[in-house]
Amino acid sequence: MADSTRKTALITGAAGFLGSHLSDRFIAEGIRVIGMDNLITGDIENIAHLMPREDFSFYHHDVSQFVHVPGNLDYILHFASPASPIDYLKMPIQTLKVGSLGTHNLLGLAKAKNARMLIASTSEVYGDPLVHPQTEDYWGNVNPIGPRGVYDEAKRFQEAMTMAYHTYHGLETRIVRIFNTYGPRMRINDGRVLPAFISQAIRGEGLTVFGDGSQTRSFCYVDDLVDGIYRLLMSDYSQPVNIGNTAEITMTDFAKEILALVGNEKAYLDQRPLPTDDPKVRQPDITLAKKILGWEPKVSREEGLRRTLPYFLEAVNKS
Ligand code: NAD
Ligand code: UDP
Repeated sequence: MADSTRKTALITGAAGFLGSHLSDRFIAEGIRVIGMDNLITGDIENIAHLMPREDFSFYHHDVSQFVHVPGNLDYILHFASPASPIDYLKMPIQTLKVGSLGTHNLLGLAKAKNARMLIASTSEVYGDPLVHPQTEDYWGNVNPIGPRGVYDEAKRFQEAMTMAYHTYHGLETRIVRIFNTYGPRMRINDGRVLPAFISQAIRGEGLTVFGDGSQTRSFCYVDDLVDGIYRLLMSDYSQPVNIGNTAEITMTDFAKEILALVGNEKAYLDQRPLPTDDPKVRQPDITLAKKILGWEPKVSREEGLRRTLPYFLEAVNKS
């Protein structure tokens, strides 16, 4: 018999990397999950283990089109969007649409269902930052017409639209600004630096370090991110919150770390041109998350990479 006290969450992008891990966490918390995805960058394999469950259902749907879901909804988590630079460069219009039209459709659904809406924003709203580390009150340095603008501006519009529904309609909203996150279920060829380096190292190829490799990123293990998002959703805080790991590293040092981790002597560093508008530095200031959510990352990069490697070994061998 259906349990009428059980909460229901709609998770868009559920077949993707983060959406599938979020679905696992919500189900583990006793929340019924409706996953929605059009599979443009996701993989149904990521949620195959959830399909037989009575507390999980899946809709194959493009959220940039009108979204209809029957019954009650308590939470909506909007994670659908191409997320890797090569994906959003290949699909610029879909990226703009899912951040704008998709967000509008889901805000409308949240209003109709009286649901709480959380959006997946990004450190990319800070662009090539002139403030380091990035605090939530920094407005960013984005080139709106550059190749990355389709993603950055879609996310900035998404934040603006979400805030407008909060202030004008009184909708309960949450905004998480996610910094580079990694873990099992990333697509090995999605072009992001970690899947690229690990699969190149496993295959004994050159690790494609873009530019002089002095640019920095700060990598967060997926379980830490999911925990931060869960806490933010359950909090009463409606302003944007950075969630990420503060351990910053240059791409050259990261490539060397991956070489040492994988231990394939055939692999080497292979310098390539730096993509346009590639941010030179990125590190989250997480003072706010610590204060209002009591959250900080627990998994070091060493431990996170150790947990992630077996997934990539299997995925590369199957490819
Ligand atoms: P992903 O590509 O693995 O997952 C995105 C999912 O969204 C895919 O399954 C894709 O098929 C689906 N999707 C895309 N457009 C859709 C549409 N119009 N309708 C329905 N489904 C659609 O990427 P991810 O890393 O899991 O990222 C998820 C979200 O988190 C994205 O919104 C991304 O911008 C955000 N984010 C991720 C990171 C990160 O480091 N992984 C950092 C910042 C922000
Ligand atoms: N990068 C790299 N080699 C690759 C892929 C990416 O050196 O094969 C660099 C990229 O130029 C950027 C950083 O790694 O400086 C992170 O890139 P990613 O695409 O993972 O995410 P971003 O943080 O730029 O969105």
